[in-house]
Amino acid sequence: MDYLWAPWRLAYVTNASGGASGGADSCIFCSSADPSRDDLVLVRSASCYAILNLYPYNNGHLMIVLNRHVATLSATTDGEQADLMRLTRHAEIALTEAYSPHGINIGINLGRPAGAGVLDHLHVHLVPRWNGDANFMTVVGNVRVLPEDLASTAAKLRPIFQRLGREDR
Ligand SMILES: [Zn+2]
Repeated sequence: MDYLWAPWRLAYVTNASGGASGGADSCIFCSSADPSRDDLVLVRSASCYAILNLYPYNNGHLMIVLNRHVATLSATTDGEQADLMRLTRHAEIALTEAYSPHGINIGINLGRPAGAGVLDHLHVHLVPRWNGDANFMTVVGNVRVLPEDLASTAAKLRPIFQRLGREDR
């Protein structure tokens, strides 16, 4: 299990301290909730947004992030929970269509010992997995070599999220 959950230990950004004093002002996810910061954002819903991980563990590694700066599921409303799961479902569909992975890790880390990179802003990770993928994903000097850039990933996933959003209405 340690190995399976290792991807969650990657920080979202290297300088995201996410310390105990980190409020909404210094929060990377709160700043990404700003509509002007759309380079990595794939879709926005009423309570959440989907965003690519800046340092993906695998192609398509994305996160569903609550708009509101809360740390735990216990602090969320019924509406936020429904929206969070709805977007997570869309992400599962989009990743499956775009990448045909053999599996997907879907997980939430609460707190530093659990591997959270951003401690106090709730988010769900989705990481597509392929048979044997851990064998070739080597880390050299903290730089992961991936065969696809983030702009290409976003271009593949955005239209699928948009279609799924329309189908839900
Ligand atoms: Zn925040």
